Amino acid sequence: MKSYRNIYLDHGASTPVREEVVAKMLPFWTLDYGNPSAVHKFGQTASRALEAARQSVAESLNASADEIVFTGCGSESDNLALRGVMLAARAASGGNHLITSVIEHKAVLETAKQLRDLFGFELTVLPVDEYGQVDPHEMEAAIRPDTALVSIMAANNEIGTIQPVEQIGAIARANGVLFHTDAIQAAAVSSWDMRRMPVDLLSLAPHKFYGPKGVGILYVRRGVEIISSLTGGGQESGRRAGTVNVPFAVGASEALRLAVAERVENVAHYRRLTAKLVDGVLSALPNKCRLTGHPVERLPHNASFAFRNISGNDLLMHLDIAGVSASSGSACLTGDPKPSSVLQALGLGPEWTSGGLRLTIGRQNTDDDVETVLRILPQTVGRLERLNQEYA
Ligand SMILES: *Cc1c(COP(=O)(O)O)cnc(C)c1O
Repeated sequence: MKSYRNIYLDHGASTPVREEVVAKMLPFWTLDYGNPSAVHKFGQTASRALEAARQSVAESLNASADEIVFTGCGSESDNLALRGVMLAARAASGGNHLITSVIEHKAVLETAKQLRDLFGFELTVLPVDEYGQVDPHEMEAAIRPDTALVSIMAANNEIGTIQPVEQIGAIARANGVLFHTDAIQAAAVSSWDMRRMPVDLLSLAPHKFYGPKGVGILYVRRGVEIISSLTGGGQESGRRAGTVNVPFAVGASEALRLAVAERVENVAHYRRLTAKLVDGVLSALPNKCRLTGHPVERLPHNASFAFRNISGNDLLMHLDIAGVSASSGSACLTGDPKPSSVLQALGLGPEWTSGGLRLTIGRQNTDDDVETVLRILPQTVGRLERLNQEYA
């Protein structure tokens, strides 16, 4: 196996799968490979493993097993929540309006726009303040008699800002509107007690917390109707057709169990290294860079910055060559450097919005890693500035 010596600071994009998780998944490929819907013993073994995984996810979220749907990825969970609720609302009573925010992940925002443009639903996209937070009162003011769903992310993938999810959910509930939150970034660093929280639908993606890619989880509160996007067999209680990927469901449940069990110590580790990183970067590059997102209400593993008059893409490529694997936090393609719509939504000017950098800490990062980055980053920024001057 090839081993990269780069320092990996892109845990917001994906994480390594833990050995314990791989070990739990292995038997379900080569030994217990039955279709969980089958009647025979192979099927029963697979079905038992799948339902145990569902039960374990439910326990991690303080929910019931019948409230857990396994999907194919985090994006699918978001899609199913939005499309599923809106189509069910229309079928039931004529609910026609959806509220979301301008800084949602594309999996929510593009789905919301498609519901508006192709399905004829009405959409309100709420702005955010300079730190990336939605104003709950503005959300309440946007609610109409035909509003069926509010979808506001728990924490932003690019700038790390945490939203006042409980307050927003309470307002939605008081107004008889369902509330979905994309908790894909926040899953492993906040606690999710679904019996207590005013959240009706919750999206999770195990590959963001040391589980496998290609599997997602959607919590759907008992009694909430969703219409399946993937039609076919009646798997997942009619909410998602297709033979369930048993090894991935098992891996997802084990990754979530470990994330919940080790949350406090992981968060302490992330917080300490992130603080060191943020302080170091801001003091090494004053005037050239700023922290983006909320100064306090932010993901403990997310250090996000904007650099003045620097191309974030160039910065990422030069950092990679220098040994640091980072991200801009958005899905912008290398070679097609668009300004970040999230940084624009914060009100930052064009001198900042193409210069986003996101460093996301993981379990195996060390103080040494942070010190190395604090040495490499200012050198790399200096080199880019010289190049910019030469080619200006
Ligand atoms: C990663 C991510 C997604 C998409 O999850 P996938 O599993 O890659 O489809 C959606 N929302 C947020 C906030 C994310 O960070």
